[in-house]
Amino acid sequence: MWNGSKMAEVIEETYFALRERFQGDLLWPGHHNYEDACAIWNGMVAKKPGLIARCAEVGDVQNALRIASAAGVVTAVRCGGHSLAGFSTCHGGLVIDLSRMRQVTVDADARRARFAGGCLLGSIDNATQRVGLVFPSGVVSHTGASGLVLGGGTGWLTRRFGLSCDNVEGFILVTADGSIVHCNAHESPDLFWALRGGGGNFGVVTEFDVRLHPLASVTLAQGLSSESDVRRLLQFWRDFMADAPIDLKWNIDLRLGPNNKEVPGDLQGRPVASSSLVWTGSSETADKYLKPALSMCRPDSVSSRVVSFIELQTMADSCFPHGQRYYTKSGYFACLDDATIDLLLAAMVSLPSAETQIELAYLGGTASQVHAGETAFGDRSAPFIMNLLANWSEASADDAHISWIRGLFNKLRPAMKPGVYVNFMSDDEQDRVQEAYRERWDRLVAVKTKYDPQNFFRLNQNVPPSHSQHTVDKWANTVQD
Ligand SMILES: Cc1cc2nc3c(=O)[nH]c(=O)nc-3n(C[C@H](O)[C@H](O)[C@H](O)COP(=O)(O)OP(=O)(O)OC[C@H]3O[C@@H](n4cnc5c(N)ncnc54)[C@H](O)[C@@H]3O)c2cc1C
Repeated sequence: MWNGSKMAEVIEETYFALRERFQGDLLWPGHHNYEDACAIWNGMVAKKPGLIARCAEVGDVQNALRIASAAGVVTAVRCGGHSLAGFSTCHGGLVIDLSRMRQVTVDADARRARFAGGCLLGSIDNATQRVGLVFPSGVVSHTGASGLVLGGGTGWLTRRFGLSCDNVEGFILVTADGSIVHCNAHESPDLFWALRGGGGNFGVVTEFDVRLHPLASVTLAQGLSSESDVRRLLQFWRDFMADAPIDLKWNIDLRLGPNNKEVPGDLQGRPVASSSLVWTGSSETADKYLKPALSMCRPDSVSSRVVSFIELQTMADSCFPHGQRYYTKSGYFACLDDATIDLLLAAMVSLPSAETQIELAYLGGTASQVHAGETAFGDRSAPFIMNLLANWSEASADDAHISWIRGLFNKLRPAMKPGVYVNFMSDDEQDRVQEAYRERWDRLVAVKTKYDPQNFFRLNQNVPPSHSQHTVDKWANTVQD
C-alpha cells in the first residue's frame, strides 16, 4: 500500500502505531474510501496523503498527534476542507480529518452552543435554528466552521453581531504532544487571544463554546445594475454604508450576468453588479434603507422578501461547488476612491469566465467596535473588503485565470491598506501572513513558540516560532509536503 520510500516507511510505522487504538477510520492509498477522502473543495489542489486518519473522538486526535509529531510526519488538519490555499491536505503525509466529529449541543436558555471541530456551518445553523438562535458565521453552509472561526469569520451577520471569533467564549485544543488545553478568558488567556484570528497554528481545536443570538428570519433584497450604472452604484454604496445601521449588510459582486430566467435577457452574459442586501432590523424600518439602495438597481431585476435564516445561509451553496478550480487574492481599502472604481470597471469587461467575480463587502458595525488588540484577528479598521475570486473548471484555463487575478490585484494594490484576511489567501502568499497580523505579529509568535515550538502545525497561514530555522531543518529530513 505504500511505495517503500523514506516517507512511506514513516507513514507505515504511523499506521501500525495508530491502528491498535484508533476508533475512527484509517484510509491509505488503495483503501476503497481513500480516493474520495483525498478530495478537498478546491479542485486545483490534488494532493495524495500517505494516510488519512478520520477521527471519531478526541482520543483519536490525541493519539494521531502524539504519534505523528514523535515520528516527524508532516500533518494537515481538516475540518470542512475549504481552505482556498489547500492547507487541509498534503502529499505523502498524514491528514487528521475531523469530518466524523460534528456534534452540536445547544443551551437555548443560556444562548450558548458547543460544537465539535469537524462541524460545517450548516450543522451549526440547523441545530441553533431549532430554537430560533444563530451563531454568526459565513455565507456558504458547506464551509467548515473550524477554519472559518479560527481565521476570524465574516458573513451576513458580522455588522450586527461581530465576527465569528468575537462570539467564541472558549476552545478545547489538542497540542502536538497530545495534551488537552482548555482556553477561555481565565484559562490559558494567551492562547484564547491567539485562536481568535490566528488560524490553525497552535493545535487541533476539538470543541468551540460560542454565544448565540435570537434571529429566525431576515429581509433579503437583491438586484442587478448594468455596466453603465456601476460607477454610480459603487459611489453611492461607499457613501451610504458609512452611515448605515448595523442591521444592514450590503454586498456587491461584479460579474457576468447569470444565464437564468430571473435575470433580464439583456443582462445575461454581460458585466453587471449584483447587489445582495440583508436587513436584520425591524420590518417597519426596512424600506428606509433598502429602497434607496435598490433604486441603484434595474427595476426589472429587483426582488425583496423575508427569508428564513436557513434559506439565507444556503442560498449561495450551489454557486461554489466542490471540485471546481479556484484562485483568490484579497485586500482591504480604507476608502474606495474614484480611481479604484475606474480600475474595477475596466476589469469587469475582461472577466475570464462566467463564475469569476470581484466580491466587495463593507465591514464596520459591531466587528469594527472590538479593540484591535482584543483578538489576534487582523485589521478591523478598513471597512472595504475586496476578494477577487476566479472560479473555472478546465485545467487548460488555469494560467488565464490566475494571471487575470494577479494582474488586477497588482493594479489595485497601491490603493489598498496593508493587511489581508487570512481566510481569503492563496497558497502563494505566505509572504503576506505577517502583513495580515501586523502589530499583533510578535505576540502571535510568542504564543506559537510556547504552544507549538517545533512548528508541527505549519500547513496554514503560518506564524513560525521564534527559532524556526532549526525547525525547518528538522522537517527537511523527514517527509515533504
Ligand atoms: C465556498 C466558500 C465560502 C466561504 N465563505 C466565507 C465566508 O462567508 N466568510 C469567511 O470568513 N470565510 C469564508 N470562506 C473562507 C473560509 O473561512 C476558509 O476557507 C476556511 O479555512 C474554511 O474552513 P474549513 O474548516 O472548511 O477549512 P479546512 O480546509 O478544513 O482548514 C483550513 C485551515 O484551518 C485548519 N483547521 C481546520 N480545522 C481545524 C481545527 N479543528 N483545529 C485547528 N485547525 C484547524 C487547517 O489546518 C487549515 O490550515 C469561504 C470559503 C469557501 C471555500
